[in-house]
Amino acid sequence: MANKQDNNTPKINFPGMGRSFEEITQDLDQASAKDAKWMDGKTFSLVFYAGEEVDKVAKHAYKAFAYENGLNPTAFPSLRKFETEVVAFSADLMNGDSETVGNMTSGGTESILCAVKAAKTYALKQNPNVKPEIVVPQSAHPAFDKACYYFGINLIHVPVDPTTFRADVQAMEKEINENTIMIVGSAPAYPQGVVDPIEELGQLAVKHNILMHVDACVGGYMLPWVEALGYNVPKFDFRVPGVTSMSMDLHKYGYTAKGASVVLYKNAELRKSQYFVYTGWPGGIYASPAVAGTRPGGSIAAAWAVLNFLGKDGYMQKAKEVMDAAMKVRKAVESIEGIEILGNPHMCVMAIGSDKLPIYTIGDELSLKGWHIDRQQNPESLHLTISWGNVKAMDQFVTDLQEAVAKTKKPSLHKITSKATVGVVKGLAKVLSEEQMTKLTQMLSKMGGAGLPKRTAAMYGMMGALPNQGDLDQLILNMLDGLNRPEVPRKEKA
Ligand SMILES: *Cc1c(COP(=O)(O)O)cnc(C)c1O
Repeated sequence: MANKQDNNTPKINFPGMGRSFEEITQDLDQASAKDAKWMDGKTFSLVFYAGEEVDKVAKHAYKAFAYENGLNPTAFPSLRKFETEVVAFSADLMNGDSETVGNMTSGGTESILCAVKAAKTYALKQNPNVKPEIVVPQSAHPAFDKACYYFGINLIHVPVDPTTFRADVQAMEKEINENTIMIVGSAPAYPQGVVDPIEELGQLAVKHNILMHVDACVGGYMLPWVEALGYNVPKFDFRVPGVTSMSMDLHKYGYTAKGASVVLYKNAELRKSQYFVYTGWPGGIYASPAVAGTRPGGSIAAAWAVLNFLGKDGYMQKAKEVMDAAMKVRKAVESIEGIEILGNPHMCVMAIGSDKLPIYTIGDELSLKGWHIDRQQNPESLHLTISWGNVKAMDQFVTDLQEAVAKTKKPSLHKITSKATVGVVKGLAKVLSEEQMTKLTQMLSKMGGAGLPKRTAAMYGMMGALPNQGDLDQLILNMLDGLNRPEVPRKEKA
């Protein structure tokens, strides 16, 4: 029953008569009416906004190059200039040297796919008999799982230190064998916002003569400013011996338009292992640097424009405001009895946990107050990615958090309203809509795994109570499939 597929796809016909610009723009506005209202600063991690001026620059550049194609740099020297300069700026920021090279990609996931693919090709060139394996801390982003799944690589997850949440270097070393081609550290890792011990991991990579990727997707365009502001940031970039590749997302703390990230390599030899060439195609000799074929000029141009518009001083100013707000939130959380910040986050990404109070219930209360806040598992926590667009709302957040905790402490108020349930459910997975998640909740409770809680605050608790992981994977796959079909129109009330 759990695996039964809902195949109810409404048929939608191709538009017949074309419609007017006015009608289309009206529809666009209407369609966005139910979207997260991120402009109010109450949405975390999905959107990075740096104010009206940056917005103007990014959109102008994006629009001007919306049709240009980064696939062929000889046809568009403009895009070649933008991309190579963005890569050079990024290499400079990461303390690369004259040998450091890289590419722009569509996002962190593509940057990581590229680095993993390059590692595999590079390792196979050195030893055709290697059965590639990669060792990552459990906190590493699922993009590594995706890459290994796509490229047929064995991925080994190693639990992180249970109190600091940083990679356990000794435990990782135990997993290194003759098939290991690469190890990974994050700067910082997304779940608790802590930077892994990159220097120690680098020593491992050197000792075992393997590659090492530093995933600075969320920290690459933030940590350098945080360090310059005087905060303690462990060395995480090309200054560290052993680091051979890095990923850093422009569309996060670079505040550029979506669809922009950078992958960097220690040298051109490594990067060549990322490239793809096929010379036998009747369509001509085909060569492509990254995963995508056609590459959007808009996001490349917007990234170049925003980096130049803000410059070091602009980013420093934004970073200072963000860190001031993040420290305020952190101090407030630490002063609220019953909840805590997990580990010692190195920038403005952090997790709020509790070993006394039901943290998801606190999350429900925050959802009721309009906050879009992610729930995490192992351990249970709420996740904050504070960026410039959130700064103005952080005082309100502290007030709302205090209230939410106070309310959760009152036993009579442990009961959760159905609206709050939707809030929890919604926070569960960024990819699933409210309706889909409500359905999922219903399906799960019907399955009745042992010890399923009656109320659904602990959605993760329910999932944990499922008989096996395969059922859960299948459920999520079915939901995802449903999400990639048009929404079933709601019946009009007569
Ligand atoms: C966001 C993120 C990624 C993936 O980036 P996308 O742009 O979402 O593909 C990878 N690693 C970390 C640490 C991230 O925060």
